[in-house]
Amino acid sequence: MNAVPNRAPDSDSGGPALDYTAAIAEFYREFPQHRKDVFILNPQTATNGKDAVKLIAPALDDLQAQNPTAMVPFSRSLGETAFMKKIPMSVNITDSPFARKAEAVIYGRIVMPAGDEFTAQKLKALFTGHSVGANSNARYPSMKEEFNNTEMWQRYVLDHELGHALTMLSINKQSMKTSSIGNRAECEADCYSMIRHYQRYGAQSEFPEFVSELRNFNAVHKGDVVHWTSPALDEVIALNKQGKLAHLTPAQARDLAVDIAQRRHLSVDAEYNMQQAFAETLAVSKAAIANKTHDGDRAMNSLAKTCEIGAKTQSPSVLDACQRYFRAFRLYAPTDMPQSKTPDELKQIGADAGKMMKRKLEKEPEMDGLRRAFRDAMIDFSSGKKPGQKPAAPNDNKPKGP
Ligand SMILES: [Zn+2]
Repeated sequence: MNAVPNRAPDSDSGGPALDYTAAIAEFYREFPQHRKDVFILNPQTATNGKDAVKLIAPALDDLQAQNPTAMVPFSRSLGETAFMKKIPMSVNITDSPFARKAEAVIYGRIVMPAGDEFTAQKLKALFTGHSVGANSNARYPSMKEEFNNTEMWQRYVLDHELGHALTMLSINKQSMKTSSIGNRAECEADCYSMIRHYQRYGAQSEFPEFVSELRNFNAVHKGDVVHWTSPALDEVIALNKQGKLAHLTPAQARDLAVDIAQRRHLSVDAEYNMQQAFAETLAVSKAAIANKTHDGDRAMNSLAKTCEIGAKTQSPSVLDACQRYFRAFRLYAPTDMPQSKTPDELKQIGADAGKMMKRKLEKEPEMDGLRRAFRDAMIDFSSGKKPGQKPAAPNDNKPKGP
């Protein structure tokens, strides 16, 4: 089954699709060294996965010949499946399935962009909604029509995946003890894609601000902490305002994204604290889906829980996400939402919000001793290190190539 139904007419879908043939050619012009290790499936030139993968087969064969331990057939079949199911994703070509080994080498990456069917409405719904069918732009969080543009969305997904490819991590499980590798990779990919967005669409675009807020909404609504790139994206947004992005070359855009991510990604303690805190808001979202709660009450229930968490948390990252949520709520909640909170309930939300917005926290509480010891032991086990051995220096994730 495909992930999305057929495309709506252009008039309801945010305009024409991205020209993928031109976008792929541009990538190899900018990064010729990645002809050998980044392979992009073109959703506009093939009708099935086998044909799509055939177009990149000679390059995959070369990679296999040079790296006999790379699991090319495995990645290739994942790529075919992604294409057939129309799932935007990227597949790492490593020497162990799902990179379970300690320092698995990533030899290359197969990127499956979002195809023509992913209109602005559907991509927004995929990011914001809990179901792909919720494809109306009126649904909370709403977004300005001029930026809910199909080409911008498809560009974002492609540049995000290419951002991952350009900053490929060799996975160092030991650095997971101090640093969320997953979050750092997402910060790199989002920063790269949004720097390029400003370069392509102009410094006036508000799309990156929406993406920053969206990542925050998703941490709160879905508990998606690994993709919480908002603090990193805010630095990109600020640099754009200072006029510091327009002149960057694509390679400089990549290096800047790596630098921002290195400074702005979550520690494991912060990631853990956010996951614990937003399990509560995730439960609110799940209840809304189960009870088919309408948008107004869905939004107000999330807001109430977020303010309650923000008023009592000891984690600076959790507080930051709650404060962002409160500020964004007014921007993105439709103005005509009917809702059924009582005056007393509204007063409580106001009191929590007032308290939360005044708070400042500095130090991230550490995961408690027993939980940390267990987690570290599991990392040691799966990375083949002996217990008690000192963790390796965190992976500095230098981009490959010249
Ligand atoms: Zn990603």
